[in-house]
Amino acid sequence: MSNDRSNEKHKARMQEHKAKVDERVANAQEEKGILIVITGNGKGKSTSGFGTVTRAVGHGLKAAVVQYVKGTWPCGERDLLQAHGVPFHVMGTGFTWETQDKATDIAAAKKAWEQSKVWLQDPSVNLVLLDEITYMLTYKYLDVGEVVEALRNRPQGQNVVVTGRACHRAIIDIADTVSEVKSVKHAFDAGIKAQVGIDW
Ligand code: ATP
Ligand code: MG
Repeated sequence: MSNDRSNEKHKARMQEHKAKVDERVANAQEEKGILIVITGNGKGKSTSGFGTVTRAVGHGLKAAVVQYVKGTWPCGERDLLQAHGVPFHVMGTGFTWETQDKATDIAAAKKAWEQSKVWLQDPSVNLVLLDEITYMLTYKYLDVGEVVEALRNRPQGQNVVVTGRACHRAIIDIADTVSEVKSVKHAFDAGIKAQVGIDW
């Protein structure tokens, strides 16, 4: 095939593709805050959530973060974003296999949830990141019905990102965007140590 023919075919394909993309863009006219779920076993869930917070803050929007599970060790995003005025609530108990105290964990989870609800009712907050909240539902530390209700009743323009493995079906059902991060391989399995700036 001559270069000209090949180029023309390419042009025709691209025109067709552009028409389809333009049509889809024209059809997506609704404006509302969305619920995003980033779940699955692969690496990249919290970094995606914090990336979205950074994106929003970069546009001058107001974001708030609740870190469930984690918080007893440093977190690069927290240091950076707090310095840019993003409020954080850190559950701070660490993993259940470290605390080994269910009552303390439940109390801390409920406290984190109370703060989450405050932000989920505040229309001035454009984005709420509920990092690792899925585990609170798996362990039944929080009531899934209550979480679904708060997410449903949040201000119309508010965006929420939920992260964590094995997200409860009820949250996926009400979410607008759901991504499952699949683990193809992870450095840790090859014996490579977790490192600053990459893993926390
Ligand atoms: P990240 O915060 O890097 O985006 P994540 O939120 O997807 O990771 P978590 O399940 O919250 O993953 O685990 C956080 C920590 O565990 C990170 O240090 C991450 O590198 C590590 N990790 C994530 N996925 C895996 C995996 N499949 N195998 C081993 N370690 C993992
Ligand atoms: Mg995470």
